[in-house]
Amino acid sequence: RTVYVNGVFCPEDQGRVSIFDRGFLFADAVYEVVSVLDGRLVDFSGHMARLRRSLGELAMPQPAGEAELLAIHRELVARNGLVEGAVYMQVTRGAADRDFLFPPEDTRPSLVLFTQASSLVEKPAATSGLRVVTLPDLRWQRCDIKTVQLLYPSMAKTEAKRRGADDAWLVKDGFVTEGSSNNAYIVPGDGTLVTRPLSPAILPGITRTAVLRLAGVAGMAIDERPFSVEEALSAREAFITSASSFVLPVVEIDGQRIGDGTPGETARLLRAIYIEEARKSAI
Ligand code: PLP
Repeated sequence: RTVYVNGVFCPEDQGRVSIFDRGFLFADAVYEVVSVLDGRLVDFSGHMARLRRSLGELAMPQPAGEAELLAIHRELVARNGLVEGAVYMQVTRGAADRDFLFPPEDTRPSLVLFTQASSLVEKPAATSGLRVVTLPDLRWQRCDIKTVQLLYPSMAKTEAKRRGADDAWLVKDGFVTEGSSNNAYIVPGDGTLVTRPLSPAILPGITRTAVLRLAGVAGMAIDERPFSVEEALSAREAFITSASSFVLPVVEIDGQRIGDGTPGETARLLRAIYIEEARKSAI
């Protein structure tokens, strides 16, 4: 694989960052994951808008403008012959002598990108559905910023696997916030699409925005409100969204079947609509 590190495209085993990089020492870094379909980037400007916001919230300098970042993404996709998968991009505050205090403003941010090939459209979980377990949401209180502080979500996913499930849904005060790396939805008996409203408790998913827009266009009723674990357990359907999973049905929560235990119609339809739209609008 060819990767990108601070202005240079190089083989992955030659990509180097400093041991003093603040991303490594303090998780002082933000990231984005843009999915690639047919060799093109899905919702690139949405991801870049969120990157700018994450950087702004942390007073971190912009590593490059959107046009330059687009060129780097495209070059990396081309060099790796990537047809389907994702481009991972990480920006850190750069390397500086270890100190909790942010380094001087002229510290050069570090910018790293790599690609990951994977099947996004043909996914076994799209037909089998996912099993999730609920776990307490022990993350910090600014989950709206896409930082690389991913230890707890990583622990949660590992615990979910240990319990024989695919992923974790995180719970705060009895209400589901989101999945370990995705946004969470339910469809109660009345057919409304329910998902937690944006707040510092969840990441504003780029796929979430797209799916809610497409659901609205398709005439679905949408209710952005918190939902409890109990309500999820008695829902007709449940599903998740993210750039790497698009829309995937959830068929089991804490060992209890959701609906009839098979992927629901809403999730199936939204997945199909989303993929069609993503293919059309990818750049
Ligand atoms: N929530 C969390 C905690 C995530 O890590 C992610 C993506 O990685 C999402 C939601 C979904 O966001 P997006 O649709 O932009 O991939």
